[in-house]
Amino acid sequence: MAGASVKVAVRVRPFNSRETGRNAKCVIQMQGNTTCISNPKQTKDGAKNFTFDYSYWSHTTAEDPAFASQTQVYKDIGEEMLLHAFEGYNVCIFAYGQTGAGKSYTMMGKQEPGQEGIIPQLCEDLFQRTGENRDPDLTYSVEVSYMEIYCERVRDLLNPMSQGTLRVREHPILGPYVEDLSKLAVTGFPDIRDLMDVGNKARTVAATNMNETSSRSHAVFTIVFTQKRRDQMTSLDTEKRADSSGAKGTRLKEGANINKSLTTLGKVISALAEMSNKKRKSDFIPYRDSVLTWLLKENLGGNSRTAMIAALSPADINYEETLSTLRYADRAK
Ligand code: ADP
Repeated sequence: MAGASVKVAVRVRPFNSRETGRNAKCVIQMQGNTTCISNPKQTKDGAKNFTFDYSYWSHTTAEDPAFASQTQVYKDIGEEMLLHAFEGYNVCIFAYGQTGAGKSYTMMGKQEPGQEGIIPQLCEDLFQRTGENRDPDLTYSVEVSYMEIYCERVRDLLNPMSQGTLRVREHPILGPYVEDLSKLAVTGFPDIRDLMDVGNKARTVAATNMNETSSRSHAVFTIVFTQKRRDQMTSLDTEKRADSSGAKGTRLKEGANINKSLTTLGKVISALAEMSNKKRKSDFIPYRDSVLTWLLKENLGGNSRTAMIAALSPADINYEETLSTLRYADRAK
Protein backbone atom coordinates (compact mmCIF):
# COMPACT_ATOMS: atom_id res chain seq x y z
CA MET A 1 0.00 0.00 0.00
CA ALA A 2 0.94 3.60 -0.40
CA GLY A 3 3.28 5.17 2.09
CA ALA A 4 1.49 7.41 4.54
CA SER A 5 2.64 10.59 2.85
CA VAL A 6 1.74 9.85 -0.79
CA LYS A 7 -1.82 9.48 -2.02
CA VAL A 8 -2.19 8.04 -5.51
CA ALA A 9 -5.35 8.46 -7.59
CA VAL A 10 -6.25 7.77 -11.20
CA ARG A 11 -9.10 9.31 -13.17
CA VAL A 12 -10.60 8.34 -16.51
CA ARG A 13 -12.29 11.00 -18.65
CA PRO A 14 -15.17 10.68 -21.15
CA PHE A 15 -14.43 10.02 -24.84
CA ASN A 16 -13.52 13.14 -26.79
CA SER A 17 -15.16 13.84 -30.14
CA ARG A 18 -12.25 12.33 -32.06
CA GLU A 19 -12.56 9.08 -30.13
CA THR A 20 -16.32 9.01 -30.53
CA GLY A 21 -15.90 9.74 -34.24
CA ARG A 22 -13.58 6.78 -34.59
CA ASN A 23 -15.92 4.50 -32.70
CA ALA A 24 -13.42 4.00 -29.91
CA LYS A 25 -13.87 1.23 -27.37
CA CYS A 26 -13.43 1.86 -23.66
CA VAL A 27 -10.54 -0.20 -22.26
CA ILE A 28 -10.87 0.96 -18.64
CA GLN A 29 -13.15 -0.46 -15.97
CA MET A 30 -13.25 0.51 -12.32
CA GLN A 31 -14.54 -1.17 -9.21
CA GLY A 32 -14.05 0.51 -5.87
CA ASN A 33 -10.46 1.72 -5.85
CA THR A 34 -9.32 -0.84 -8.44
CA THR A 35 -8.72 0.04 -12.08
CA CYS A 36 -8.75 -2.62 -14.76
CA ILE A 37 -7.30 -2.09 -18.24
CA SER A 38 -7.90 -4.57 -21.03
CA ASN A 39 -5.68 -5.04 -24.03
CA PRO A 40 -7.84 -4.40 -27.11
CA LYS A 41 -5.72 -6.82 -29.15
CA GLN A 42 -6.18 -9.71 -26.74
CA THR A 43 -9.54 -11.18 -25.87
CA LYS A 44 -8.20 -13.61 -23.28
CA ASP A 45 -5.95 -12.78 -20.32
CA GLY A 46 -5.46 -9.28 -21.63
CA ALA A 47 -6.69 -7.53 -18.49
CA LYS A 48 -4.53 -6.01 -15.78
CA ASN A 49 -5.67 -4.77 -12.38
CA PHE A 50 -4.19 -1.92 -10.37
CA THR A 51 -5.26 -0.71 -6.95
CA PHE A 52 -4.84 2.89 -5.86
CA ASP A 53 -6.05 5.08 -3.03
CA TYR A 54 -8.75 6.30 -5.42
CA SER A 55 -9.93 5.20 -8.86
CA TYR A 56 -12.14 7.92 -10.31
CA TRP A 57 -14.65 7.00 -12.95
CA SER A 58 -15.50 10.19 -14.87
CA HIS A 59 -16.11 8.46 -18.19
CA THR A 60 -19.90 8.57 -18.14
CA THR A 61 -22.30 11.33 -17.17
CA ALA A 62 -23.15 12.63 -13.72
CA GLU A 63 -26.30 10.46 -13.66
CA ASP A 64 -24.11 7.37 -13.28
CA PRO A 65 -23.90 6.59 -9.53
CA ALA A 66 -20.22 5.65 -9.97
CA PHE A 67 -19.38 9.03 -11.54
CA ALA A 68 -16.69 11.04 -9.73
CA SER A 69 -17.39 14.78 -9.94
CA GLN A 70 -14.95 17.66 -9.56
CA THR A 71 -16.40 18.19 -6.07
CA GLN A 72 -15.75 14.57 -5.15
CA VAL A 73 -12.13 14.70 -6.30
CA TYR A 74 -11.59 17.94 -4.38
CA LYS A 75 -13.23 16.56 -1.23
CA ASP A 76 -11.02 13.47 -1.23
CA ILE A 77 -7.73 15.03 -2.21
CA GLY A 78 -7.80 18.84 -2.11
CA GLU A 79 -9.49 19.22 1.27
CA GLU A 80 -7.03 16.87 2.94
CA MET A 81 -4.05 18.64 1.40
CA LEU A 82 -5.38 22.04 2.49
CA LEU A 83 -5.75 20.77 6.05
CA HIS A 84 -2.13 19.64 5.94
CA ALA A 85 -1.09 23.08 4.69
CA PHE A 86 -2.81 24.70 7.70
CA GLU A 87 -0.92 22.25 9.91
CA GLY A 88 2.32 23.54 8.40
CA TYR A 89 3.15 20.75 5.96
CA ASN A 90 4.44 21.41 2.47
CA VAL A 91 1.90 19.91 0.15
CA CYS A 92 2.19 18.95 -3.48
CA ILE A 93 -0.58 17.85 -5.80
CA PHE A 94 0.74 16.36 -9.00
CA ALA A 95 -1.21 15.53 -12.16
CA TYR A 96 0.31 13.64 -15.03
CA GLY A 97 -0.65 11.60 -18.04
CA GLN A 98 -0.84 11.79 -21.80
CA THR A 99 -1.71 15.07 -23.53
CA GLY A 100 -5.49 15.47 -23.55
CA ALA A 101 -6.03 12.91 -20.78
CA GLY A 102 -7.49 15.44 -18.33
CA LYS A 103 -4.70 17.00 -16.25
CA SER A 104 -5.84 20.61 -16.73
CA TYR A 105 -9.45 19.61 -16.21
CA THR A 106 -8.62 17.95 -12.89
CA MET A 107 -6.28 20.64 -11.62
CA MET A 108 -7.96 23.74 -13.04
CA GLY A 109 -11.30 22.65 -14.54
CA LYS A 110 -13.65 25.06 -16.23
CA GLN A 111 -15.17 28.32 -15.08
CA GLU A 112 -18.65 26.88 -14.75
CA PRO A 113 -20.53 25.88 -11.60
CA GLY A 114 -19.53 22.37 -10.57
CA GLN A 115 -16.74 22.25 -13.16
CA GLU A 116 -13.96 23.93 -11.22
CA GLY A 117 -10.87 21.85 -10.55
CA ILE A 118 -8.80 21.22 -7.45
CA ILE A 119 -6.83 24.50 -7.50
CA PRO A 120 -9.81 26.91 -7.63
CA GLN A 121 -11.74 24.91 -5.02
CA LEU A 122 -8.71 24.74 -2.75
CA CYS A 123 -8.04 28.48 -3.11
CA GLU A 124 -11.65 29.30 -2.38
CA ASP A 125 -11.51 27.25 0.82
CA LEU A 126 -8.17 28.75 1.72
CA PHE A 127 -9.41 32.34 1.41
CA GLN A 128 -12.68 31.49 3.15
CA ARG A 129 -10.81 30.08 6.13
CA THR A 130 -8.32 32.94 6.37
CA GLY A 131 -11.22 35.40 5.99
CA GLU A 132 -12.96 33.87 9.00
CA ASN A 133 -9.94 34.47 11.22
CA ARG A 134 -10.86 36.73 14.17
CA ASP A 135 -7.57 36.36 16.01
CA PRO A 136 -5.77 39.73 15.87
CA ASP A 137 -2.41 38.08 16.59
CA LEU A 138 -2.69 35.73 13.65
CA THR A 139 -2.11 37.00 10.13
CA TYR A 140 -2.01 35.23 6.81
CA SER A 141 -0.48 36.02 3.48
CA VAL A 142 -0.69 34.24 0.16
CA GLU A 143 1.75 34.57 -2.72
CA VAL A 144 1.95 32.66 -5.96
CA SER A 145 4.54 31.80 -8.57
CA TYR A 146 4.18 29.89 -11.83
CA MET A 147 7.03 28.32 -13.74
CA GLU A 148 7.62 25.98 -16.60
CA ILE A 149 10.37 23.39 -16.62
CA TYR A 150 11.18 22.63 -20.21
CA CYS A 151 14.17 20.48 -21.19
CA GLU A 152 15.59 20.89 -17.68
CA ARG A 153 15.36 24.70 -17.91
CA VAL A 154 13.20 26.96 -15.79
CA ARG A 155 11.12 29.82 -17.19
CA ASP A 156 9.06 32.33 -15.27
CA LEU A 157 5.51 32.22 -16.63
CA LEU A 158 4.45 35.32 -14.71
CA ASN A 159 7.12 37.65 -16.00
CA PRO A 160 6.85 38.31 -19.73
CA MET A 161 10.05 40.35 -19.57
CA SER A 162 12.16 37.38 -18.52
CA GLN A 163 13.04 35.70 -21.79
CA GLY A 164 15.89 33.52 -20.69
CA THR A 165 16.10 30.69 -18.21
CA LEU A 166 16.43 31.21 -14.50
CA ARG A 167 19.08 29.82 -12.20
CA VAL A 168 18.26 27.16 -9.66
CA ARG A 169 20.01 27.75 -6.35
CA GLU A 170 19.93 26.32 -2.86
CA HIS A 171 19.11 28.18 0.33
CA PRO A 172 20.82 26.70 3.41
CA ILE A 173 17.55 26.49 5.35
CA LEU A 174 14.71 26.76 2.87
CA GLY A 175 16.27 24.43 0.29
CA PRO A 176 16.29 24.67 -3.52
CA TYR A 177 14.69 27.70 -5.16
CA VAL A 178 14.62 29.57 -8.45
CA GLU A 179 16.52 32.81 -8.42
CA ASP A 180 14.50 35.87 -9.52
CA LEU A 181 11.26 33.92 -10.00
CA SER A 182 8.32 36.32 -9.61
CA LYS A 183 6.31 35.79 -6.46
CA LEU A 184 3.12 37.83 -6.45
CA ALA A 185 0.86 38.60 -3.49
CA VAL A 186 -2.81 37.69 -3.96
CA THR A 187 -5.88 38.42 -1.88
CA GLY A 188 -8.49 36.21 -3.46
CA PHE A 189 -9.07 33.53 -6.06
CA PRO A 190 -9.83 35.99 -8.90
CA ASP A 191 -6.21 37.23 -8.60
CA ILE A 192 -4.96 33.68 -8.85
CA ARG A 193 -7.14 32.92 -11.86
CA ASP A 194 -5.82 36.00 -13.68
CA LEU A 195 -2.23 34.97 -13.00
CA MET A 196 -2.88 31.43 -14.16
CA ASP A 197 -4.34 32.77 -17.41
CA VAL A 198 -1.27 34.95 -17.93
CA GLY A 199 1.01 31.99 -17.26
CA ASN A 200 -0.89 29.53 -19.44
CA LYS A 201 -0.55 31.87 -22.43
CA ALA A 202 3.20 32.01 -21.87
CA ARG A 203 3.69 28.24 -21.90
CA THR A 204 5.87 26.67 -24.55
CA VAL A 205 3.28 23.98 -25.14
CA ALA A 206 0.59 26.51 -25.85
CA ALA A 207 2.78 28.09 -28.51
CA THR A 208 3.63 24.95 -30.44
CA ASN A 209 1.02 22.46 -29.29
CA MET A 210 3.12 19.49 -30.27
CA ASN A 211 3.35 16.29 -28.30
CA GLU A 212 7.08 16.23 -28.78
CA THR A 213 7.27 19.56 -26.98
CA SER A 214 4.69 18.89 -24.32
CA SER A 215 6.38 15.65 -23.34
CA ARG A 216 9.21 17.66 -21.86
CA SER A 217 7.20 20.47 -20.35
CA HIS A 218 6.06 20.66 -16.75
CA ALA A 219 4.10 23.49 -15.23
CA VAL A 220 4.56 24.16 -11.52
CA PHE A 221 2.13 26.52 -9.85
CA THR A 222 3.14 27.34 -6.29
CA ILE A 223 1.03 28.90 -3.56
CA VAL A 224 3.10 30.17 -0.66
CA PHE A 225 0.81 30.38 2.31
CA THR A 226 2.28 32.05 5.39
CA GLN A 227 0.67 32.05 8.83
CA LYS A 228 2.24 34.54 11.18
CA ARG A 229 1.57 34.59 14.91
CA ARG A 230 2.49 37.56 16.99
CA ASP A 231 3.48 36.62 20.50
CA GLN A 232 2.07 39.22 22.90
CA MET A 233 4.60 38.49 25.63
CA THR A 234 7.65 38.95 23.48
CA SER A 235 6.19 40.82 20.50
CA LEU A 236 8.02 38.41 18.27
CA ASP A 237 6.63 37.10 15.04
CA THR A 238 6.74 33.41 14.37
CA GLU A 239 6.20 32.35 10.86
CA LYS A 240 4.78 29.09 9.59
CA ARG A 241 5.08 28.57 5.88
CA ALA A 242 3.42 26.03 3.75
CA ASP A 243 4.22 25.67 0.12
CA SER A 244 1.58 24.08 -1.91
CA SER A 245 2.50 23.25 -5.41
CA GLY A 246 0.32 22.05 -8.18
CA ALA A 247 2.45 20.50 -10.80
CA LYS A 248 1.40 19.15 -14.13
CA GLY A 249 3.68 16.80 -15.94
CA THR A 250 2.82 15.57 -19.35
CA ARG A 251 2.95 12.31 -21.17
CA LEU A 252 5.31 9.56 -20.33
CA LYS A 253 6.87 7.17 -22.73
CA GLU A 254 8.89 4.13 -22.01
CA GLY A 255 11.75 4.17 -24.47
CA ALA A 256 14.47 6.31 -25.88
CA ASN A 257 13.03 9.77 -25.32
CA ILE A 258 11.94 9.01 -21.80
CA ASN A 259 11.34 12.09 -19.85
CA LYS A 260 13.99 12.69 -17.25
CA SER A 261 11.83 14.69 -14.85
CA LEU A 262 9.09 12.09 -14.74
CA THR A 263 11.47 9.17 -14.48
CA THR A 264 13.28 10.82 -11.61
CA LEU A 265 10.01 11.84 -9.98
CA GLY A 266 8.91 8.21 -10.09
CA LYS A 267 12.17 7.10 -8.48
CA VAL A 268 11.97 9.78 -5.81
CA ILE A 269 8.38 8.99 -4.91
CA SER A 270 8.94 5.24 -4.71
CA ALA A 271 12.14 5.74 -2.69
CA LEU A 272 10.19 7.93 -0.26
CA ALA A 273 7.38 5.37 -0.06
CA GLU A 274 9.90 2.58 0.60
CA MET A 275 11.51 4.68 3.26
CA SER A 276 8.23 5.33 5.02
CA ASN A 277 7.38 1.61 4.78
CA LYS A 278 10.85 0.92 6.25
CA LYS A 279 11.64 -1.34 3.31
CA ARG A 280 14.65 0.74 2.41
CA LYS A 281 17.99 0.64 4.13
CA SER A 282 19.65 3.65 2.58
CA ASP A 283 17.95 7.01 2.80
CA PHE A 284 19.41 8.35 -0.42
CA ILE A 285 16.73 10.01 -2.52
CA PRO A 286 17.82 11.09 -6.04
CA TYR A 287 16.25 14.58 -5.93
CA ARG A 288 19.19 16.12 -7.76
CA ASP A 289 18.78 14.01 -10.87
CA SER A 290 16.22 16.36 -12.41
CA VAL A 291 15.29 20.02 -12.01
CA LEU A 292 11.66 19.16 -11.28
CA THR A 293 12.45 16.86 -8.34
CA TRP A 294 15.18 19.13 -7.05
CA LEU A 295 12.79 22.09 -6.93
CA LEU A 296 10.04 20.00 -5.38
CA LYS A 297 12.41 18.49 -2.82
CA GLU A 298 10.81 20.22 0.16
CA ASN A 299 7.36 19.40 -1.20
CA LEU A 300 7.99 15.72 -1.71
CA GLY A 301 10.14 14.58 1.19
CA GLY A 302 10.44 15.46 4.85
CA ASN A 303 7.75 17.71 6.20
CA SER A 304 5.35 17.15 3.35
CA ARG A 305 2.25 15.49 1.97
CA THR A 306 1.93 14.57 -1.69
CA ALA A 307 -0.97 13.53 -3.90
CA MET A 308 -0.56 12.23 -7.44
CA ILE A 309 -3.39 12.01 -9.90
CA ALA A 310 -2.88 10.09 -13.12
CA ALA A 311 -5.19 11.22 -15.92
CA LEU A 312 -6.31 8.40 -18.23
CA SER A 313 -7.83 8.29 -21.68
CA PRO A 314 -10.52 5.58 -21.89
CA ALA A 315 -9.92 4.81 -25.56
CA ASP A 316 -8.46 1.63 -27.08
CA ILE A 317 -6.30 3.71 -29.43
CA ASN A 318 -4.40 5.07 -26.42
CA TYR A 319 -4.00 1.67 -24.75
CA GLU A 320 -0.18 1.59 -24.68
CA GLU A 321 0.20 5.08 -23.30
CA THR A 322 -2.56 4.56 -20.72
CA LEU A 323 -0.96 1.32 -19.56
CA SER A 324 2.37 3.06 -19.06
CA THR A 325 0.61 5.84 -17.09
CA LEU A 326 -0.98 3.18 -14.86
CA ARG A 327 2.36 1.44 -14.34
CA TYR A 328 3.95 4.73 -13.44
CA ALA A 329 1.20 5.47 -10.90
CA ASP A 330 1.56 1.95 -9.54
CA ARG A 331 5.28 2.46 -8.90
CA ALA A 332 4.54 5.63 -6.93
CA LYS A 333 2.58 3.73 -4.29
P1 ADP B 1 -4.49 17.67 -20.52
O1 ADP B 1 -4.36 18.83 -19.60
O2 ADP B 1 -4.09 16.39 -19.87
O3 ADP B 1 -3.78 17.86 -21.83
P2 ADP B 1 -7.29 18.44 -20.61
O4 ADP B 1 -7.53 18.58 -19.17
O5 ADP B 1 -7.12 19.67 -21.40
O6 ADP B 1 -6.03 17.47 -20.89
O7 ADP B 1 -8.47 17.53 -21.17
C1 ADP B 1 -8.74 17.36 -22.57
C2 ADP B 1 -10.24 17.55 -22.80
O8 ADP B 1 -11.00 16.57 -22.10
C3 ADP B 1 -10.76 18.88 -22.34
O9 ADP B 1 -11.70 19.36 -23.26
C4 ADP B 1 -11.43 18.57 -21.01
O10 ADP B 1 -12.46 19.47 -20.72
C5 ADP B 1 -11.95 17.16 -21.22
N1 ADP B 1 -11.93 16.41 -19.96
C6 ADP B 1 -10.83 15.93 -19.33
N2 ADP B 1 -11.15 15.28 -18.20
C7 ADP B 1 -12.50 15.35 -18.10
C8 ADP B 1 -13.44 14.85 -17.12
N3 ADP B 1 -13.04 14.17 -16.05
N4 ADP B 1 -14.74 15.12 -17.35
C9 ADP B 1 -15.13 15.81 -18.44
N5 ADP B 1 -14.30 16.29 -19.37
C10 ADP B 1 -13.00 16.07 -19.22
